Amino acid sequence: MTAEQLLAAPAIALPTLRGAVAGLPSYVPGRRSAGADVAALASNESHYEPLPAAITAVAEAAGRMNRYPDMAAVELRERIARQLGVTAAEVAVGPGSVGVLQQIITGLCDAGDEVIFAWRSFEAYPILVELAGARPVRIPLDHLEGHDLDAMAEAVTVRTKVILLCTPNNPTGVPISHDRIEAFLRAVRSDILVVIDEAYVEYAEAGSGPDSLALYRQYPNVCILRTFSKAYGLAGLRVGYAVAAPAIAEGLRRTALPFSVSALAQKAAIASLDAGEEMETRVAAVRQERSRMAAQLEAQGWKLQPSQGNFLWIRADDDLLARLVEAFDAAGVMVRAYQGDGVRITVADPACNDRVLRLLEAHAA
Ligand SMILES: *Cc1c(COP(=O)(O)O)cnc(C)c1O
Repeated sequence: MTAEQLLAAPAIALPTLRGAVAGLPSYVPGRRSAGADVAALASNESHYEPLPAAITAVAEAAGRMNRYPDMAAVELRERIARQLGVTAAEVAVGPGSVGVLQQIITGLCDAGDEVIFAWRSFEAYPILVELAGARPVRIPLDHLEGHDLDAMAEAVTVRTKVILLCTPNNPTGVPISHDRIEAFLRAVRSDILVVIDEAYVEYAEAGSGPDSLALYRQYPNVCILRTFSKAYGLAGLRVGYAVAAPAIAEGLRRTALPFSVSALAQKAAIASLDAGEEMETRVAAVRQERSRMAAQLEAQGWKLQPSQGNFLWIRADDDLLARLVEAFDAAGVMVRAYQGDGVRITVADPACNDRVLRLLEAHAA
């Protein structure tokens, strides 16, 4: 049909999206722009290249891309299980921990069921919940930028199926202590799955957050969510995992899109776990930079809560936020701005971090 014929034709019904999809918030990707001098500090990626062993493993596996990967990811699940002292039956892998989280929510929630999480937290949470036809229940952070676990426990209803705890929290960097999570687990029904999203756990100082494996052993309704995207530097390969009671983990494996974790990702993840000490050295450098930046920002007059992630969080009203975004944009430093809340800046190499410090100095109170 020509455009004219189309216009003259009687109105026809076009395919429509489900209401839940039409109403979805958009995932706002970390801003990027090309250019040699652009600092990509908007997505909490590792500024290091992948570990050499991971690159080698991918190169070796590349020649077998005509084959499907191991759908059950047996070798990777066994390697993760060995690392954590669990069994492979308790491990489910997916295309990033966001992929695993989608399996968790679609696997547990019927339409109208409720998923409780803190807000502001990871932007993917409300999107995945609404996509499943479930209802997101956002509980505001407390005045120290952390989870308000009392309010979260009070928000539980008969429809609550899943509770998401993000520690350290993205974007505020504030962890939830072991004791507070344990008290929370005692208070909530044991048929609610409590997901502890530890995407940044490698960056956290020992003891700042929970011993999630101990909690999992004590409370079988705990599900631990981890990823190779952040400290392990494999964001582009898409691989993450859950540790959960065998029946839950089995359910996640059943709801997974077939072959969603590529052989390249499986091999790179195994090689990365094998090179754990090298990862630790890198993480230690990021932690040191995080402390240095926090101290300098405090000296400049910024009031920050200590971050346990590879990022810093600056709460800002919309006026300050607009000024910061303009300054960062002009300088080619890509950061993540959240209207009404603040700005999140990934910690990277010292030169990049110095650029951030100089930019912020001009806007300190
Ligand atoms: C980055 C991030 C993830 C990881 O996402 P992947 O899908 O594994 O890349 C999960 N949770 C939070 C809170 C994150 O910030």
